[in-house]
Amino acid sequence: MTSISIAHRPASVRPSPSIAAKALVTKLRAEGRRIIDLTVGEPDFVTPRSIMDAAQAAMRAGDTHYTASNGTKSLRQAAANKLMRENGLSYTPDDIVIGSGAKQLIQTALAATLNPGDEVIVPAPYWVSYPDLATLSDGVPVVVACTEEAGFKLLPSQIEAAITSRTKWLVLNSPNNPSGAVYSIAELTALGEVLARHPQVLVMTDEIYEHFIYDGERAISFGRAVPALLERTLTINGVSKAYAMTGWRIGYAAGPRVLAQAMTSLLSQSTTCPSSISQAAALSALSGDQTFVVEARRAYQTRRDRAVSLLDAIPGIACRRPEGAFYAYPNVAGLIGRRTPDGTWIESDLDLSQLLLREGGVSVMDGTSYGLSPYLRVSFATSLETIETGCAAIARVVATLD
Ligand code: PMP
Repeated sequence: MTSISIAHRPASVRPSPSIAAKALVTKLRAEGRRIIDLTVGEPDFVTPRSIMDAAQAAMRAGDTHYTASNGTKSLRQAAANKLMRENGLSYTPDDIVIGSGAKQLIQTALAATLNPGDEVIVPAPYWVSYPDLATLSDGVPVVVACTEEAGFKLLPSQIEAAITSRTKWLVLNSPNNPSGAVYSIAELTALGEVLARHPQVLVMTDEIYEHFIYDGERAISFGRAVPALLERTLTINGVSKAYAMTGWRIGYAAGPRVLAQAMTSLLSQSTTCPSSISQAAALSALSGDQTFVVEARRAYQTRRDRAVSLLDAIPGIACRRPEGAFYAYPNVAGLIGRRTPDGTWIESDLDLSQLLLREGGVSVMDGTSYGLSPYLRVSFATSLETIETGCAAIARVVATLD
């Protein structure tokens, strides 16, 4: 039997916990179990028809070939127009790179800049992929815990304390997955004042949930709030969340040209280019009618309000109202140390999420995966009915605890 020796890289990353949770739900359902899925990290809506039509037209017109490695000029121009129109950011198409999803661009930006031992500051709770993508490129994630009292947001004093001579990046994600936190212009400005004193630090600002901000508030781009740092800021965005296009795999990054060029060079040796058909669809999404986004935001706000009130009403759970994204991040400190009917202790949010799946048939993410415990991540990118039955199942299981 041949024994295959696997290099250090796969072992240095955890398989994405949210993708693993989705796979588990699929497996349990295939076994015949009825599972209520509140782990979903993607819109439940179907991609708008006009975007599908644009993809179909592109196929028929023969746009079925490789494109430039940084994406088609027309899509990069559309992204530049969008960044000016909606974010007040001035970029040319040459400063923009199209990738097969925002995730690929984050990975590529880190691969293009990190030398072994370089540090990446990741505020927690964080999207599960940032620390592992830093590790994958030989970097060292430096996790900084943001407390619930601080609205799950990084304080200027914390960033000052975390920066060293090896710091290469600060990763900001607003609106945040999983906490829903949204930074105000004043908060971004205050972080910018600290960063201005540390010229070696680049800022990666992941704004993929920018359209999902509630109660009439609006997102502010880091690069807009802190224009003095634009020359070392990489703005990450994509069409996955805004236009319910997760399966089309298109993201875009805008930043210093030298970085865009280095990323393009890496991409030319990996995927060559993103799907030409998906790029045509993304062009239509970014430059077409934006009604879908407004309607999706309205639907998410209703779902958020329902999810938060149902979760917060469960004894032992305290749920802060997220300002953005489509996740609630309820505090479950009141359930840690409690005992299940079969006599096992709940020692962590991971124990709790496993109990909820086993006894309640409801799948939620544990805060441990996002670097800040004891919390659960409950997605409300699903129907009101699923939210209601899911929260009822959580309440039922919690009521059995001693
Ligand atoms: N950033 C954040 C914060 C996310 O939650 C996600 C998707 N879960 C991504 C990036 C990746 O998006 P894409 O589909 O464009 O790769």
